Amino acid sequence: MPATPAWPPKSAPRLFVPGPLAEGATISLDGGQAHYLGKVMRVGPGDAVILCDDATGEWLARVTEAGKRDVVLLAETLPRPPESVPDFWLCPALLKKDRFDLVLEKATELGIAHIRPVLTRRCVADKLNPERARTIVTEAAEQCARTALPALAEPVKLDALLRDWPEGRALFFADEAGGAPAAAAFAAHSGPAALLVGPEGGFDDAERAAIRAHPAAQAITLGPRILRGETAAIGGLALWMGVAGDWSAAV
Ligand code: SAM
Repeated sequence: MPATPAWPPKSAPRLFVPGPLAEGATISLDGGQAHYLGKVMRVGPGDAVILCDDATGEWLARVTEAGKRDVVLLAETLPRPPESVPDFWLCPALLKKDRFDLVLEKATELGIAHIRPVLTRRCVADKLNPERARTIVTEAAEQCARTALPALAEPVKLDALLRDWPEGRALFFADEAGGAPAAAAFAAHSGPAALLVGPEGGFDDAERAAIRAHPAAQAITLGPRILRGETAAIGGLALWMGVAGDWSAAV
C-alpha cells in the first residue's frame, strides 16, 4: 500500500509576506517572490506554499494562478501559530559587511528574538543598510522554518545602549580580557537576557570600564582564544541556546 504523500509536501516553498493573512485570503505576489515561486520552484495551480505574515503565524496556501510575472495564492489553513522563542537579545558591534551578514543570518537561524546592532569606537563599519539586513534575516527565517521574524533594531551607540538598558534584563558582556565561564553564567541565570559582543578591534578600556560598571552587566569568557567578533556572537548565542534556550528542551 503506497504511503500517502505528506501534505503540505516538506518541499513546499516558504515565504514571508505582508499580512495579516486570514483564511480564504487571496495573496498576489510579483517581483522576486513571484520569480522564486514561478521560475525557481516552478509552482503551478494546486501546489502548496507556506506563507508567514510575522503576525498570525504559518499559513498553508494553495497556488490558484501562476502567471509570467505574478503568482496568486489562496490562504487555506493555519498549521502553526507564531513561534515563541526564548527572550534573548544579541547586541553585536557592527562588523565589516560580509561578517555582519553572517551574524544576522546565523543569529536568526539560532532562534534569536531581537538583534540590537551596536556602534563602538573601534567599529570599522559605521552604518547598516536596513533593507539589506531585513532581507538577510527574512531569508534566514524562511530557510529555517521560523514562523516569526526576530526584531531588528537600528544600530545604537554603546553609551546609549547602556543608558537605556531595560530594567530586569541581564547583559552578558563577552570580554576577551576575561570573565566568568559563559556556560555556568548562562545556566545560573533565568529571565530576560542579552549578549554583547565587540567589533574587530575589541572594546577600548573606557568602554570596557563603562560596561563592567553597568548594574545589569556580567563579563563572561568564551574560552582562551581570541575569537573573531562574528564567531563570538554566533558561538556565544549557540551556547546560550544549548544551556538556557530552547535547545535544552526535547522537540
Ligand atoms: N580586541 C581583540 C584583539 O584584537 O585582541 C579582539 C576582539 S574580538 C575580535 C571581538 C569581540 O569578540 C571581543 O570584543 C569580544 O566581545 C569577543 N570575544 C572574542 N574572543 C573572546 C573570548 N575568548 N571571550 C569572550 N569574548 C570574546
